[in-house]
Amino acid sequence: MRDAELKGIGMTSRRTRDRLINRLAQQGITSSDVLEVMREVPRHIFVDEALAQRAYEDTALPIGHSQTISQPYIVALMTEALLAGGALNKVLEIGTGSGYQTAVLAHLVKQVYSVERIQSLQVKARSRLRRLSLYNTHLMLSDGTMGWPGRAPFDGIMVTAAPGKVPVELLEQLSEDGGRLVIPVGDFHQDLLLVVRRGQAFRQEVLELVRFVPMLSGVIR
Ligand code: SAH
Repeated sequence: MRDAELKGIGMTSRRTRDRLINRLAQQGITSSDVLEVMREVPRHIFVDEALAQRAYEDTALPIGHSQTISQPYIVALMTEALLAGGALNKVLEIGTGSGYQTAVLAHLVKQVYSVERIQSLQVKARSRLRRLSLYNTHLMLSDGTMGWPGRAPFDGIMVTAAPGKVPVELLEQLSEDGGRLVIPVGDFHQDLLLVVRRGQAFRQEVLELVRFVPMLSGVIR
């Protein structure tokens, strides 16, 4: 992709992106690290060309297979909550989808591991992450309810599809020393939870009421 396409023009230009960032700040996102990264990551390359014009609106957008790229405010909120305990080395994301949240995380933590169950989404996400030279991202095609046991423990785990309850495997793969899990839980509407692990103790708080696509089992090739 040519540099000009990454920079964007018109509805994908710097000015349009600045408006989104101002809006996120007005809505209560305070982390300047998160806001600056979201100003830089070109969200318009994570959606189909026909939707690129809408990439800097604060809304979820379809990415195919009945899935969506998350609303920017929710991406910012979840990222801020994950990072609020201090710098993170290793983060696991469940639900790569378009790869946008993966790209945002890649700028803020050392290594990002991301699991997706739909192969065609993963293939597109991988090529976008390469285009942006985000080589600290590692993708796996798998059912993310299992986490990524071979790479555990994680300082942070972010789940971008909603299970009915917190999968115990994900709790087990949190680092014992303050590992943080951000996860939507529930059916139609969900509570966005932050869980912090200390040893075998798990402290939980509700961050927001949210609406995510459901976490489903099995892999689609
Ligand atoms: N973080 C993504 C959000 C995509 S929507 C983005 O920024 O674009 C949620 C994604 O979770 C979908 O791609 C869906 O296929 C995936 N998903 C749902 N259940 C899953 C599971 N059990 N394991 C892995 N991925 C899953």
